[in-house]
Amino acid sequence: MMGPPRVIVKPRRARPLFARHPWLFAGSLERIEGNPADGDQVAVVTHDGEFVAWGLFNSRSQIRVRLYSWDEGRELDDSLWRERLTAAIALRRDVLRLDDPRGACRLVFSESDGLSGLVVDRYGPWLVVQLTSLGLAERTALLTPLLVELLAPRCIFLRTERGIGKLEGLELSDGPLWGELPDGPVTIVENGLEFAVDVRTGQKTGFYLDQRENRRAAAEFARGRRVLDVFCYSGGFALAAARAGAAEVIGVDVSAAAVELAGHNAELNRLANVRFEVGSAFDVMQALAGSTGESGRFGMVVLDPPKFTRHARSVDDALRGYFRANLLAARLLESNGILVTCSCSGHVSREDFAGVLGAVAEETGRPIQILAQLGQAPDHSVSASCRETEYLKCFVARVV
Ligand code: SAH
Repeated sequence: MMGPPRVIVKPRRARPLFARHPWLFAGSLERIEGNPADGDQVAVVTHDGEFVAWGLFNSRSQIRVRLYSWDEGRELDDSLWRERLTAAIALRRDVLRLDDPRGACRLVFSESDGLSGLVVDRYGPWLVVQLTSLGLAERTALLTPLLVELLAPRCIFLRTERGIGKLEGLELSDGPLWGELPDGPVTIVENGLEFAVDVRTGQKTGFYLDQRENRRAAAEFARGRRVLDVFCYSGGFALAAARAGAAEVIGVDVSAAAVELAGHNAELNRLANVRFEVGSAFDVMQALAGSTGESGRFGMVVLDPPKFTRHARSVDDALRGYFRANLLAARLLESNGILVTCSCSGHVSREDFAGVLGAVAEETGRPIQILAQLGQAPDHSVSASCRETEYLKCFVARVV
């Protein structure tokens, strides 16, 4: 009698898995018993036969097995996915109170919700799904009706992440899984501001939902200041500062589509004290720093660049990039100006990032006081068992 396929872990490699880290890497795999197809359920067991967890197998990924259940009696059947989705939705609705029907939030955040490889973002009644594991992608036909049943959305739209096809051996393309999107962008409300979100072609799934709390925190300091929002995308920080009574806000992004969307968002909210420009961050900051007089000085600078590294091996390069950007920003700040600086590179630690500010203080000779140490919004919760889920650092600091 053949049991389910088993994946045997190399000696001394099972410890993190018992600690509920959900990734079994190819290098920790000793051998496979049985003949699992990609996406199949497998039992992960130690070298001496002890059960560790149930997972989904993928021969084409470096993450050979993603683990979902550490209870031998709880296999990966339909009821498990239903239970996980229900719990994830309840956290946002009942605990975090992100239940404004016109609001937006991340409903499912992969490993943090026990659903490695699945992201679900809600933009009002529209859902955007990202599938980054083959195992869950193969279960789309099961997950889609579950989301329809639990959330009654108007549409579920699939967005694919670049590069994921190669990493997981996945063939997916963008498009509706259920229902239809409206023709233009959809509109959401965040912190009392309206934002148009292009879920078809916008960055990420259309909006940087992870910055919700940080925009609110930054806005607290914006009143009366001239604000520069570098890497502004659709204007999240800029609009929050403008609404909070900034004297003037300038947003800069290299993407013309982003700048157009940001301008549209300023109009949506009837904010006249904000404008947006297409430009490369370093060039624009350099030019402003070189200009003498008022135009080059700001009371607040927001820096929210894209990831500077995707690999641990290039962290040093990334830190040099952060140093250069933050040094330029500090030079644009008037005395006692506020710097809101972010890093979304998972491989850059909070300590390293604070070290960047220390280096800027040394270089400029101006003390830097960190006033708030923030991270990703709580709907992007951090799994204590999978610290890779923590990626966003945001410091609000005064540059004396
Ligand atoms: N702060 C934004 C999110 C920023 S994401 C928000 O709150 O929504 C990073 C942004 O940096 C993207 O919009 C991207 O288009 C832009 N970007 C990337 N490289 C850039 C560069 N060299 N100069 C200016 N913008 C850049």
